[in-house]
Amino acid sequence: MTKKDLINSGKVKSVFTTDNDNEVLIEFRDDMTAGDGARKEVMSKKGTYNAIISSKIFQVLEEGGVKTQLIELIKPNEMIATKLEMIPIEVIIRNIATGSLVRTYPIEDGTPLDPPIVQMDYKNDEFHDPMLNDSIIKALGIATQEEIDTLKELALKVNDILREFFDEAGIILVDFKIEFGKDKDGNIVLGDEISPDSCRLWDKETLDMLDKELFRKGKDDEVMEAYVEVYNRVIPDEEKAKFDL
Ligand code: 5GP
Repeated sequence: MTKKDLINSGKVKSVFTTDNDNEVLIEFRDDMTAGDGARKEVMSKKGTYNAIISSKIFQVLEEGGVKTQLIELIKPNEMIATKLEMIPIEVIIRNIATGSLVRTYPIEDGTPLDPPIVQMDYKNDEFHDPMLNDSIIKALGIATQEEIDTLKELALKVNDILREFFDEAGIILVDFKIEFGKDKDGNIVLGDEISPDSCRLWDKETLDMLDKELFRKGKDDEVMEAYVEVYNRVIPDEEKAKFDL
């Protein structure tokens, strides 16, 4: 598979064309950003850890019946994926109240949320990812009601599968953000990534953070240790042997 032209360079990933029109190559870079990209650092091997973790999670979701963009991880930090037209909605699922939820609403940090909260934010740095609702999404012409319902249903299914997956690794899935796109036939497919960049993950015993929140809080020297810990817990040893890490 040949990596050809750069189509899109996001904050932490670059997307390239390949020799197949229906596929793209996604390169996970070592950049780490916070605050809509206001703070940016390079963390050695971060792209590789995220690509491997994200691919594993997408495989697990596929096995659970969720269609994802993943085709193959061809290098430790390069994924071949189905080309999607991305929907500019960040679907967020919250199992425990924390982060922007407790900053915005009168709810105590750490409160379990049952049923989980399904939130949708507009993926738009200029407007600082404002929260959406069904009416706003339709007014902006981003998605139809049927598509919105599908996004919510799929996000809750992802949550069910991943809560169990992380629980088996001694990790609590506190909350996460996912993005979807449409393939050439108009099917809604899970895209982007699911990694410690886009999830809040807490150690089940100690409640220590194992995700990007450490970087958001300025604990830059602890971030990679946390990502490696997630990698060590969720990637089986026989799969680790394939990567020179
Ligand atoms: P919060 O709204 O509390 O800041 O974030 C909720 C969850 O969604 C967290 O797991 C956070 O990592 C994720 N999230 C929200 N917005 C973004 C974003 O723009 N990029 C990434 N990578 N994750 C996000």
